[in-house]
Amino acid sequence: MTRQRLTILGATGSIGVSTLDVVARHPDRFEVVALTGHRRLDTLETQCRRHRPRYAVVGAEEDASYLAKALSSVGTEVLAGPHALEQVAALSEVDAVMAAIVGAAGLPPTLAAVRAGKRVLLANKEALVMAGAVFMAEVKQHGATLLPIDSEHNAVFQSLPASFAGDLRRVGVRKILLTASGGPFRSVPLARLAHVTPDQACAHPNWAMGRKISVDSATMMNKGLEVIEAHWLFNAAPEQIEVVIHPQSVIHSLVQYVDGSVMAELGNPDMRTPIAHALSYPERIDAGVASLDLFQIAQLQFERPELQRFPCLGLAYRALAAGGNAPALLNAANEVAVASFLEGRLPYLRIADVIAATLDAVPVTGVADMAAVFAADAAGRDAARQSLARWCR
Ligand code: NAD
Ligand code: MG
Repeated sequence: MTRQRLTILGATGSIGVSTLDVVARHPDRFEVVALTGHRRLDTLETQCRRHRPRYAVVGAEEDASYLAKALSSVGTEVLAGPHALEQVAALSEVDAVMAAIVGAAGLPPTLAAVRAGKRVLLANKEALVMAGAVFMAEVKQHGATLLPIDSEHNAVFQSLPASFAGDLRRVGVRKILLTASGGPFRSVPLARLAHVTPDQACAHPNWAMGRKISVDSATMMNKGLEVIEAHWLFNAAPEQIEVVIHPQSVIHSLVQYVDGSVMAELGNPDMRTPIAHALSYPERIDAGVASLDLFQIAQLQFERPELQRFPCLGLAYRALAAGGNAPALLNAANEVAVASFLEGRLPYLRIADVIAATLDAVPVTGVADMAAVFAADAAGRDAARQSLARWCR
């Protein structure tokens, strides 16, 4: 068997570590060509010793020289900076790229992988939310293959027929139902939300994830971003995408068909399942995840999300309906607000206020190319920083 050659962008993060866990189970199938990490040099060093990639990429030059010395016996070439990320995403010897950098920083290298026609395993939902139509046009133009890693979208992908080619009606789909756990504050009294801390927001009941996406899960902006992600991945109209709170996180999402059938993907909440699915698609490989024990789970619950508790979800639908630069503004403002919340400066309930103020402040315009995407991102960050000043401690 020829081995699939991989670049893992964001190898040191939660998705990156899970990806390498699956990869390590199948040395006959996968070969790691490049790993990237921003700051956690010790983790990256250990990963390089274990997987012996040809390249490693870090953020800063001084970290690169330190890591190069540490890895001199391994033979990994260490590069630094955003340009190097794009370089390892587009290497001719690479077949597939795991896009698992968090936030807007992941867009340029993910796009580089798309432009090089790679098989792109997309965890970095922010890239797709920001660039939307422009990103999808690039995927088509360069013949790249996009496989969703986000558990909900991976579940939808698995619940659609293989014949699906971008027209949901044609394959008899009525609706996509995205499940959401509701996060740590699903049933906390609203009055108490004003005082929640970053650590409380990051204590997710079912999934262990990076800090930014954990806060997004608490506010349900994560689900809002996923609604926009589903719109682009499956060419679904906003009214065809519904969010269902399902606290057990066992059903990872569902597809409703016109004949009354509902298809779903179920499993233990462990990102190694969608990662293994996308890595080996269309085959199946062991992900190291135990099978679901339905007797132990016994009950599944469903609730409608309250927009009063989760205003960020409403803001995401608003941005999707507005179109153009609005999703990029939403994403940029959310990144600025969440970073400030994680620094202990912005109160939790003000995250939504910063995003709403940003959407109010910047006029909606069309987005025709990548330059316009980056301009929208910059405008969103500027506007969000201005409103931060009003609410920060
Ligand atoms: P994380 O914070 O654990 O890891 C982020 C990775 O990105 C790290 O390797 C870090 O070094 C790198 N990184 C951060 N800033 C960077 C920058 N400026 N330049 C280059 N690299 C940088 O995050 P995560 O939880 O693994 O999430 C990664 C992505 O996957 C996010 O877009 C998230 O929304 C998505 N996702 C995560 C999960 C999950 O379970 N963790 C599930 C679905 C989707
Ligand atoms: Mg998800």
